[in-house]
Amino acid sequence: METRLCTVDPACPDAGVMREAGEILKNGGLVAFPTETVYGLGGDALNSEASRLIYAAKGRPSDNPLIVHIADWEALAPIVQEVPAGARRLAEAWWPGPLTMIFKKSDRVPYETSGGLETVAVRMPDHPVALALIRAAGGYIAAPSANTSGRPSPTTAGHVAEDLSGRIDMILDGGSVRIGLESTIVDFTEEVPVILRPGFINEEMLKTVLGDVKMDPGLQSEDPAVRPKAPGMRYRHYAPKAELSIVEGTPESVVKYIDERVREAERAGKKAAVMASAETAGAYSAGHVHVMGSLNSDEEIANRLYGVLRSFDEDGTDVIFSEAFDSPRMGQAIMNRLLKAAGHRVISV
Ligand code: AMP
Ligand code: MG
Repeated sequence: METRLCTVDPACPDAGVMREAGEILKNGGLVAFPTETVYGLGGDALNSEASRLIYAAKGRPSDNPLIVHIADWEALAPIVQEVPAGARRLAEAWWPGPLTMIFKKSDRVPYETSGGLETVAVRMPDHPVALALIRAAGGYIAAPSANTSGRPSPTTAGHVAEDLSGRIDMILDGGSVRIGLESTIVDFTEEVPVILRPGFINEEMLKTVLGDVKMDPGLQSEDPAVRPKAPGMRYRHYAPKAELSIVEGTPESVVKYIDERVREAERAGKKAAVMASAETAGAYSAGHVHVMGSLNSDEEIANRLYGVLRSFDEDGTDVIFSEAFDSPRMGQAIMNRLLKAAGHRVISV
């Protein structure tokens, strides 16, 4: 299959292109598109055959459900059984935005889309291209991240093309995304709402609106019996081919340890890389140092993370050391992805 690459103005996409992309989706095809979080791989959410195609294109396990994207509040009621009051308040605060909510699904949602579950994940993205595409497609787009399963999510159309060129009908290139990490997921099918995946909208922001909210114990547990509730959070993800270790401790001890290990690797003829904060990057004396951003503006670190992880596969890096980015705003979201990328390999110094 030939994949068409169409450049669109992210603020004001061409109506003709959006109509064409919408037709592809209505006919059961697949279109990748930008959102404010990462690029999504879209298919008609109410067409079970389209959902099957999405799993096939990504190589995604079919028990890992897709998020249904809507553009208007009125589109929610037909696909869910009920909208709890807390979910309504969160939507008022954060939709359109980087927030996904889990509801009990209605019969309109095929099991192919919900990964066999009785629940459905729904989000209203905050991006003019995504919103125009959803409306052009008839109101419901199922869209996981537009990467090959297991690789870091795509933050540019180039990343999408790397993974999916030849496997989907169209890629809409709307430039780099704003946030760079996937949406926060909040489950409203339990008594107290549960955060299944941390993201740009953090625990504190959710508490401000909801009062009570829990973090899924499966996200932090080292006990393999306590598994994350979101199926996608159980899989190995985001990992570069090179071995990645996270080093934590005081800034001085971390720099000293990484510097020694990098020199050792280089003496053995290996290519070593470091992921460092802007505050400490200048202190390293060896290796390819990637300045991820300042701990005081951690949106920058989040935004760079996936692009840097992808770059290691291209430049033949053999071994990677990362600082821990436990920053106050997005630290939970960043560390959740980084720990998965590192296979939970953490060295305390
Ligand atoms: P992605 O769109 O690639 O970011 O993946 C969607 C994420 O949402 C995956 O981690 C899924 O497992 C999760 N998800 C989607 N639907 C549900 C659901 N009904 N219940 C729990 N998790 C879900
Ligand atoms: Mg994904």
